[in-house]
Amino acid sequence: MSAPQTLERIKQHLVKLKFVSALEVVEQVIQRLEKNEISAMEALDQILDQEHGFRETRRVRTQLRTSRLLQHKTLDTFDFTFQPSLDRQRVMSLAELSFIARHQSVHLLGPPGVGKTHLATALGILAVKAGHAVYFTTLSDLISSLTKAEREGNLTSRLRYINRAPLLIIDEVGYLPIEKNGANLFFQLVNGRYEKGATIFTSNRGFKEWGQIFGDNVIAAALLDRLLHRATVLEIAGNSYRLREHADLLPESLKQGGKLEELPVKRKPGRPKKQTVDLENISS
Ligand code: ADP
Ligand code: MG
Repeated sequence: MSAPQTLERIKQHLVKLKFVSALEVVEQVIQRLEKNEISAMEALDQILDQEHGFRETRRVRTQLRTSRLLQHKTLDTFDFTFQPSLDRQRVMSLAELSFIARHQSVHLLGPPGVGKTHLATALGILAVKAGHAVYFTTLSDLISSLTKAEREGNLTSRLRYINRAPLLIIDEVGYLPIEKNGANLFFQLVNGRYEKGATIFTSNRGFKEWGQIFGDNVIAAALLDRLLHRATVLEIAGNSYRLREHADLLPESLKQGGKLEELPVKRKPGRPKKQTVDLENISS
């Protein structure tokens, strides 16, 4: 077979294999090979690298959309100097993602604008890039979706679908109070997920307020019992990044920003004894 015939056959193979990106470069790479600019091994490597890079970009793009990670936020664009209360090292160790394999919970706590959603999204994007399926939602959207599924008789499959993601990100815990049935549904989700999947929570409220948020101290204690077990708690006690340019115009109460009403105690990952959480005496 002549060289042009062989090239034609290679191109047909690439079409049949749906190697669309490799097809775009194959001719040019073979020309460089014929001019002895690259070796045969390098030529093969360049063609495969092109196809692999294209597929990887497409996979990440699709997965980010299905994960509902629509904002592009990264740890590189997070200004740690603006939040001195936040331990950069602890964030960087979360970025290694071993909490996902260990099915642990992460709580990012702090007042509005301190970067909780930014950090949760950045960790979610890293997880997608590393090949994990992620599901990002606000707590109120999650509860609406579970309530709808229950009404339509699909609760079991909806719970299974959400809990299939190795990383669930639940944004904005505590912004809106949850009614009783919603709290029960959320408990079913958390209970089904316990020690089977990792979850990142963001909240502007301390754990002591969970009784109020979920409208029931017993459910709140049962939730926290699972969600604080082997959890990482990062509290950001700083000022709003959104308001940084208007600091001069703000009243003192907002300028100080910075603090949750009830400051949670930082917990190191470890194996705390399994016990019922007493909301009255919880240290956070
Ligand atoms: P929160 O969820 O805590 O209310 P966000 O994560 O939504 O806050 O942050 C508000 C905005 O400010 C976002 O656009 C976010 O990217 C940006 N932001 C917050 N903190 C920082 C920071 N330290 N460095 C860079 N951008 C930040
Ligand atoms: Mg937020």
